Amino acid sequence: MKFGGTSIADGKKIRHVAELLKRCYDKGDEVVAITSALGGVTDGLLENSINSSKKGKVSQVKEFMADLTKKHYDAINDAIDDEDIIDETIQKIDSRIDELEKALIGICYLGELTPRSIDYISSYGERLAVPIVCGAIKSLGIKSQAFTGGEVGIVTTDEYGNARPLEKTYERVNERLIPLLEDHIPVVTGFIAENEDGIITTLGRGGSDFSASIVGAAIKADEIWLWKEVHGIMTTDPKIVPEAKPIPQISYIEAMELSYFGAKVLHPRSIEPAIRHGIPVRVKNTFEVDFPGTLIVADQTQTEDVVKAVTLIRNVALVNISGAGMVGTIGTAARVFTTLANAGVNIIMISQGSSEANMSIVVDSAHLNAAVEAINSEFDRGVVRDISHDSNICVVAVVGAGMAGIPGVAGKVFDALGTAKINVIMISQGSSQHNISFVVSEDAAIQAVKMLHDVFELDK
Ligand code: ADP
Ligand code: ASP
Ligand code: MG
Repeated sequence: MKFGGTSIADGKKIRHVAELLKRCYDKGDEVVAITSALGGVTDGLLENSINSSKKGKVSQVKEFMADLTKKHYDAINDAIDDEDIIDETIQKIDSRIDELEKALIGICYLGELTPRSIDYISSYGERLAVPIVCGAIKSLGIKSQAFTGGEVGIVTTDEYGNARPLEKTYERVNERLIPLLEDHIPVVTGFIAENEDGIITTLGRGGSDFSASIVGAAIKADEIWLWKEVHGIMTTDPKIVPEAKPIPQISYIEAMELSYFGAKVLHPRSIEPAIRHGIPVRVKNTFEVDFPGTLIVADQTQTEDVVKAVTLIRNVALVNISGAGMVGTIGTAARVFTTLANAGVNIIMISQGSSEANMSIVVDSAHLNAAVEAINSEFDRGVVRDISHDSNICVVAVVGAGMAGIPGVAGKVFDALGTAKINVIMISQGSSQHNISFVVSEDAAIQAVKMLHDVFELDK
């Protein structure tokens, strides 16, 4: 069971989570808890490390650390009753707070922030959270032990900020956790792991979903439950469309498509480990425990709801590459993709018309400059005449396995957009036919999501 940042935002919520775990344990379930950082802490750590590297103000670090310490002390006092456990937990928090402060002050002096140090700093969110959750479980009279991702055996690649687990992870985690399950509730940090040299890595923002799935697959869990503040995976982001409805059941593939196309509710890789053993994944609301939530399973039952959800990706940019010299020049696409890969650019969407004179690519906004520079230096003007880009765009996608082989879905999507006078800048549909995605200007994106949600009657 994974608990997100909102689920453990403060001491009262942590106590609620511990009680929820106790109910499962008392029923005879063996359970491992994976936790995020307390709500907002990861953002705070990242912001503060960037500030430290730029402005180098030690006084600001001290201020930030005082707030952070108070937040965690308050949580301890509200979540735990037993005085001894409170003392023991405070000691652990103190020593971590101390290490973190030294690291942030170090960054102030160095004025430098590497991907490796970003992972190190951001790991403290989860590392400060697990002792508190563990203490709260213990104060309910159940044995518990806290682990970092590395301690539990998650070993990853060196890709700081977006590390992937190595195969040996699964056996190691299994060996460490299985013996404890009979009479313990182990608590593991989500999001963070270690590379083969024992250096802290992270699995990407929102990575504790991924951690839960890795641990679930390693121990061959019966189910993986992701507890959040929403009723499950919804037909679209409820922050955009308040009428969005929870989806009772969806397939692994649909859930993956949704997360690739921006549904922040799941980390994009979080389904992969579950698929290894066909483990069902549930997304549930921590604050409405009895609501069934969403069940994610292998089954792809084609339902009447051809379209299941609408998603939005922000912070992306469009790169257009054109030139008559591209027509019929074999290998142009290969060169574009290799060049972008070598520049570390992640490609989100591609579209090329059969005239071959133009190729459109959507990338993360953060990668835009690198993408444009790389293509500029790879091609001479004989082949690629013009490279233009636009950062004021969003990607909207409609997702649903039921679309495969059903005519008219694309027609309905684009007809609705046309009627609403929303200009479509680029379109892409993979031959899997599980999604139709398109680019619109940033100004029109929210309206497009709302309208499509309405047109496909997802609120019904
Ligand atoms: P966690 O607490 O596990 O980290 P997240 O904050 O990552 O949870 O995910 C829940 C958030 O995802 C919600 O607040 C919601 O606004 C957003 N979200 C975006 N798209 C969806 C969707 N399709 N279904 C549910 N939530 C969504
Ligand atoms: N704390 C991390 C983040 O905010 C990981 C997570 O919450 O899943 O991204
Ligand atoms: Mg998340």
